[in-house]
Amino acid sequence: MKHGILLLFALLSFNGLLKADAAMDAKFNKYKEAFVLELWKVYPGWASSVGYHKYDNVLIVPNEASRKNEVAFCNKQLAELHKFQLTGLADLNKIDYHLIENQLKYAVWGVNELMAWQWDPTSYNVCGGFADMLGNTYAPLDTRLKSFKARMANVPAFYAAAKLNIKNPTREHTKLAIEQNLGGISVFEKDLDAALAESKLPAAEKQAIKATAAKCVTAIQGFAEYLKMLNNPTPRSFRLGKSLYDQKFDFEIQAGSTADNIFSKATNHKKMLHEHMFALTKQLWVRYFGSREMPADNLKAIKMMIDTISVKHVNASEFQQQIEQQIPFLTEFIKHKNLIYIDPSKPLVVRREPEYMAGVAGASINAPGPYDKNGNTYYNVGSLDGWDAEKAESYLREYNHYILQILNIHEAIPGHYTQLVYANQSPSIIKSILGNNAMIEGWAVYTERMMLENGYDGDRGLDSKDASQEMWLMYDKWNLRSTCNFILDFNVHAREMSKEQAMNLLMNEAFQEKAEAEGKWRRVSVSQVQLACYFTGFNEIYELRTDMERKQRKAYDLKKFHEQFLGYGSAPIKYIREMMMK
Ligand code: ZN
Ligand code: ZN
Repeated sequence: MKHGILLLFALLSFNGLLKADAAMDAKFNKYKEAFVLELWKVYPGWASSVGYHKYDNVLIVPNEASRKNEVAFCNKQLAELHKFQLTGLADLNKIDYHLIENQLKYAVWGVNELMAWQWDPTSYNVCGGFADMLGNTYAPLDTRLKSFKARMANVPAFYAAAKLNIKNPTREHTKLAIEQNLGGISVFEKDLDAALAESKLPAAEKQAIKATAAKCVTAIQGFAEYLKMLNNPTPRSFRLGKSLYDQKFDFEIQAGSTADNIFSKATNHKKMLHEHMFALTKQLWVRYFGSREMPADNLKAIKMMIDTISVKHVNASEFQQQIEQQIPFLTEFIKHKNLIYIDPSKPLVVRREPEYMAGVAGASINAPGPYDKNGNTYYNVGSLDGWDAEKAESYLREYNHYILQILNIHEAIPGHYTQLVYANQSPSIIKSILGNNAMIEGWAVYTERMMLENGYDGDRGLDSKDASQEMWLMYDKWNLRSTCNFILDFNVHAREMSKEQAMNLLMNEAFQEKAEAEGKWRRVSVSQVQLACYFTGFNEIYELRTDMERKQRKAYDLKKFHEQFLGYGSAPIKYIREMMMK
């Protein structure tokens, strides 16, 4: 009798708990919707950039009041969020909870601790937002021009506030801010004139728009001039410093371990890649160099082999066509080898890169934003038309016969494009606006190796058991780039790596050309943590796969692993791990 009552009681409370769970998820979904609408009021520029155009006419002046408002918003939302009990939410909502919490804490930390608003003048540039309003066709031109005009009203106040905010900025960010702001002026002159010529607005209104635009140009030029003349005897170092780096790393990457820990993994991985590359070089030597003696320095021997193999590449005129032709074979190979399900109803639309993106060769995925779900996903392929012969040759050697295939894996199938299709199947506005970059890039980098492990090689058919040695050597070089991106980022910002040391790392240990290495140095001196996401994500996915294989033993299946992994959307890998390993 006693037992019976206890059991009944237990059943009742269990049922009660289940009901409460479903109700809590429904409540949480409502909270998320409200949260996003409030978010866009505080960050109208961010809203426009993801396709939410209600606040296109708003430009927030970056002063003390708006920073206070931002922090107050975050704290209020954190309190709202913490009313939900994490354990009572379904897995996908648990991840959204973590993403929202991280974003809010990150924003408060940015205002109060990182304080880039003081030392990074590149935070102040209105041009990109205005350019989007002219370049994108989400609304009729005249509607966009009206928002454009309203948004211009705050531009002078925006730059006046910027001048007051700036304190001992870094030289590197100051220089870049001057270039970028002056470079953006054409939006208010040439680009706006072109749009006005097409517009049906009354002449008087066009005149008024032009007059306001002239004031914007004056404000931007005044800001650039201010930065040029700034008395800045003790500029801040562009290096973030260990403490801020560690914290930014945690917020941005949301990794399962510390930056130090992953740094030591990246260092070991570089060593392993060098060993593998040297072994391949020895095996390939006679084929390419006959009886010629191999240099005593291993890295020099590898470099000679890479330079020789890179000569195999397509002609400039066939570059685009070659990329397009590889896509169907990639899809077929994945199907044949049972690597991951690819939804045939959502084929990738390959297109020539549109005019406004021209000049950047290579390839990139162009996905519709969360507010444009029915839009196509495009694979933009750049053309080398009009390039001079020398530039084209150097580019084609870089994206040679082997690397071009790896690029397609990374960008398209089963890399970024495939990940996106899966992410769209568990639609969450939170994951699409706060998606985790380390997961997204990590997946693309992971698939490069996964495909080669399964024998992918464009020169060997569907039943290929292994990629060629040349393919592996080139893969290793490509993978060294992600690995050294991490090593560079960490060494520069959390330690004191000099430019000479950095150039040695990139040119001698990662086999990069001088121009590429110089570009990377410029990038690392004006960005932090971004370069660390590729290796971190790659490493975490690999470790998760190894652990799943160990745990599931005979039940382990690569295809299932991939599908389950992608099913959580663009979430931090540590949370996906938590769900998959339980
Ligand atoms: Zn050539
Ligand atoms: Zn990528």
